[in-house]
Amino acid sequence: MIKENIQKVNENIKKACDASKRSINDVKLIAVSKTQPVELIKEAYQAGIRDFGENKVQEILEKYEHMPSDTRWHMIGHLQTNKVKYIIDKVVAIHSVDSLKLARVISKEAVKNNIVMPIFLEINVAEEESKFGMDIKEVISAVKDISELPNIKIEGLMTVAPYVENPEENRQYFAILKQLSVDMINKNIDNKYGALLSMGMTNDYMVAIEEGADYIRVGTGIFGNRNYFV
Ligand SMILES: *Cc1c(COP(=O)(O)O)cnc(C)c1O
Repeated sequence: MIKENIQKVNENIKKACDASKRSINDVKLIAVSKTQPVELIKEAYQAGIRDFGENKVQEILEKYEHMPSDTRWHMIGHLQTNKVKYIIDKVVAIHSVDSLKLARVISKEAVKNNIVMPIFLEINVAEEESKFGMDIKEVISAVKDISELPNIKIEGLMTVAPYVENPEENRQYFAILKQLSVDMINKNIDNKYGALLSMGMTNDYMVAIEEGADYIRVGTGIFGNRNYFV
């Protein structure tokens, strides 16, 4: 089942890339395995997936030990500063950096571990009350401040678009994130800004790819519905 789901997602990635004249090599799929048991994550691994997204520190710590060492964990959920130290040496990127304060702690822990941590700044593009993420108007100064911190690399920007029936409704938000990223490049805030975009989920990843997503984060489309009560 998971193998077929992954095939389907890869076909859709190809369609969206063809439609927007992009190379499939430029779009990276992160399988969002939050709430999913290790057996299913291993099934996805067998089917070729190496990048997995989790939104809770505790889940990363539990699953980390049970997966092969070439598994690449991405932190995609809200991260408390006091928990950074537990995952700093276990994740390949943190997609959910929503404050300068958090970036400072990541930098400090990265220095301690002698690594450079790739991060994405999470932007609340649609200005939803319920969502984490910086406001668009905070981004430029945040990028400036964060780019001065040691051992941190700003890979780009990330957003969680609203839940909508019709994915076309989210095209505007993906386009805004893309434009914001282009603005950032034009500002030329040293070479620490990577200009990658982490955007698009099960419901809207094809539209996100058409608007320039480099990383898409797909959970339900690979693992099926989540059961939050197990
Ligand atoms: C859960 C989650 C996803 C995946 O959502 P699906 O709709 O299941 O694909 C992607 N990004 C973030 C930040 C998430 O929390």
